[in-house]
Formats: sequence, C-alpha cells, structure tokens
Amino acid sequence: MTEKGTKTTEKAAERAVQRCIEPACAGTFGLRERIYVCPRCGGSIEIDCRLPAREEAGQLRERWRMRLASPEARDRSGVWRFREMLPFAEDTAFVTLREGNTPLYDAPRSAHYCGLAGLRLKHQGMNPTGSFKDTGMSAAVTQAMVLGARTVVCASTGNTSASLAAYAARAGVTAAILLPRGQISAAKLAQSMDYGALVCEIDGNFDDGMRLIQELGEDPAIYVANSINPFRIEGQKTVAFELMEQCGWEVPDHVVVPGGNMGNSTALGKGFQELLDLGLISRLPKLTVVQAEGSAPVARLFASLDSRRPAGDNSLPATMAPVENPRTLATAIKIGAPVSWKKALRAVLRSGGRVIAVSEQEIADAKAMIGRDGIGCEPASATTVAGMKRLVASGHIGREESVIGVLTGHVLKDPDYISQYHRGTLSLDAGAKDGAAQPIAGTFRNAPERVAATRAAILEILERRR
Ligand SMILES: *Cc1c(COP(=O)(O)O)cnc(C)c1O
Repeated sequence: MTEKGTKTTEKAAERAVQRCIEPACAGTFGLRERIYVCPRCGGSIEIDCRLPAREEAGQLRERWRMRLASPEARDRSGVWRFREMLPFAEDTAFVTLREGNTPLYDAPRSAHYCGLAGLRLKHQGMNPTGSFKDTGMSAAVTQAMVLGARTVVCASTGNTSASLAAYAARAGVTAAILLPRGQISAAKLAQSMDYGALVCEIDGNFDDGMRLIQELGEDPAIYVANSINPFRIEGQKTVAFELMEQCGWEVPDHVVVPGGNMGNSTALGKGFQELLDLGLISRLPKLTVVQAEGSAPVARLFASLDSRRPAGDNSLPATMAPVENPRTLATAIKIGAPVSWKKALRAVLRSGGRVIAVSEQEIADAKAMIGRDGIGCEPASATTVAGMKRLVASGHIGREESVIGVLTGHVLKDPDYISQYHRGTLSLDAGAKDGAAQPIAGTFRNAPERVAATRAAILEILERRR
C-alpha cells in the first residue's frame, strides 16, 4: 500500500466506525472491514459518523450551498457537497455522475386529490440513471474503489442494477447483477445492458436473488452493493440534507416514501437524525413509509405493534414475518423480505411516523394524478401520494400540515404500465392460469384517439374535450 493510501485510511477512520444496531451487541468495526451484517450477532450494520462540532454546523449550511457554484465535480455532486457528514477522507477519488441536486416540485393537483392544502414532491427520479439509487451507489462504488474491489454485485428489481452498472462503468470495475427473469421493466434491463454490466437473469424472485448475493458476498474479491451495504445508506442520507436546504431549513410535518427493501427510508431517517444531533433542525419530520398491499410485510408488522404498545415505547420486535409470494405491479417494491426493515422501523418509530399499505388501484390512480401535475414517476413512487390520501382521510395527516413525498423513479422507467392504465387494460397477474388476474380500472384514463388526418376532425375532437 502506498503511503498516501495509508494516510487516507487513517483520516477516514478517525471520522467513523461501522456499528451493529443491536443494543445488546453494539459491536464496532473499522471502515475497511467488508461486512454487511454483524460478524458477532448477525445484526444490521450502520455507519456511525463522528459529526462535525456543533459550533461549525452553522457554517456548514453556507459552505454546502456555495459548493453548488463551484466548477469541481465533487462540489457539484448532490452527495459529495455534503462530504463533512460522510465516512470518506477529503482526498478520496469520489465516483460521481453528478447525482443528487434533484428538484422539489409543488404538486397542486395531487394535493387536491389527497385533500391537502399543499404538497411538495422531491423527485429522486431526476438522477443520472433515473432513480434515487444513484446517490447511494455513488458512495458504495467509491467505497469499492477505496477497498480495491474489482467486482461489484447486486440483486435488483431493476433500478439498483441500472445504477450499479453505470457507476461501475464510471469506475472501471466489473458489475454483475442478478435480476428475477421476466419481472423487470424492459427499460431498466436495457439500461443495465447499455452500461456494460454482466446481466444474470435468475429463475426466482428478488428475495432469491438477495439470498444468493449474501452467499456471493462471502468471497473476498466481490463487493456487495445492495442497500444492506452501509455505505449505500450514507450516500442516500444526503437527500435529507438537500431536502432541508430546499425547505429553507424549516422542518416539514411529514415526509412520505415508498418502502421496498427499506434502504431509502432508513437513509432518510438517518439523515434527519444527524441534522437533529447537529442542531441544524429542531425536530424530526414524521417519516411515513408506504408499501404495496401484496408486498407489505413491514406495514403488517407495524399494524400489529400499533394496537399494543404504549405511547413512547420505541422498542423493536426481534423478527418480521416475510411475505412468501409478493404481488404488485410496482415492481421496484415487490420485495417480501426487506433486509433493512429494522433500521427503517426504528427511524419511523423515533419520528412518530407510520408504515402503511395501499392497493394496486390506489397506486395506479395516484400515479396518474402525479402525471397531471406535469411531474410523472414510476409506479412504486406513486405509493406516496396514495398513502397520503389515506392518511388525510383517516386524520393522521392534517389538511394544513406541510407534507413532502419522495418520488423514487422516473416516469419512463415503466412505460408499459402507463400505456396499459390509460388504455384500460392494466391488470395484476394478467395471463394467470388460475383466473387470479385482478383488473385495474383506468379511472383517469387518457387513451390516444384515432383521428382522420384532416383539420376538421382534429378541431372536432378538441371541441369534444373542452
Ligand atoms: C428501490 C426503489 C424503491 C424502494 O426503495 P427501498 O430502499 O428498497 O425501500 C422504490 N421505488 C423505486 C423507483 C425504486 O427504485
């Protein structure tokens, strides 16, 4: 190892450790240890960053904002401009595609649909590969380079693989990705092929892929880039910083996110908690996670807790019953055994938020409303607006409260779904032999019209639409 390499390691090591989240264990491990679960007790691992001193915190806000005007790639990145909060040395060769710095949109039609006075949507689909995964992948692939790994792997419902493929290509390392055959949108698969990854289509679902990945990760030459990787979470937590900056550091009442493997909710919760610890915000927004009904193990667990526990009891259950055969057209969250459920649930409970589930019809209609705001997103992202509508109806979110939804993927990630919804042919398990297919109504359908190629025909149809 070069002298410089040693120095870099020491500086990064001063700043953070990896720690087991189980209070009874709380084992700590160096940043260079390639672990995804605690080697002592099997618990989840998170990175414990030594945060900057509170006195410096006020200056940080200004420094982070100023970096946006810098010509340097690491300053312009929406991840690396927050590097004081990250477990990397200042002189690391960051792998970046200019991720982050995504828009926060007003969504008046969606707000009205939910029964809210106002609603803002943070669009993480506006990242380089079209999903929020890029913020985490920038950090995970940077860590792979720090460790000298030559091969990075992931199991994916599509977006993780597209993102890993792109970042691995930037870094010049091999990416191998495991996808459930026939269960991935064509657009996501196409991205992974274009970025040069080794695409392995497995006969199994995402959860089978995830099991395989954990076995592959035992090989010291292979680095796992799923959100079980704590460095992914570090990159993704910067979204909380960026969001607060966009809110002028005024804490919203609610932040609502979709839940699949639960990495995104874990990361947002960690980001807000760190801002609170630093004194940059004065309270936590309530973090609510929304799953699809056919794939909602954490929502089920949350519902079972909710009825029994006294207020203020944030202790976590030891286990979660997985969903054996998850069903949803929102393929990005079609996950029956989310690996980060415990970290995410801890963040939700601390913040006073909830975990709920919504139906396929609710997701599809909410997605169409987001489209009508001129924003658009992929199906999984629309669970947020569907979830808000439910929570406003049940009184958990007040009409006048400030609410932010996190959209996780780009509208073009799954065009087949959109086209089928608007033509009225969308159906869960279409083609199922046992007759289990469940049609989804095109409530806000907007099918193309077949029109004669004349001025009169077009004017007539415009008149009818008015
Ligand atoms: C990955 C993904 C999710 C789920 O995020 P988790 O961190 O797995 O909970 C939701 N939506 C989209 C578009 C995704 O790509």
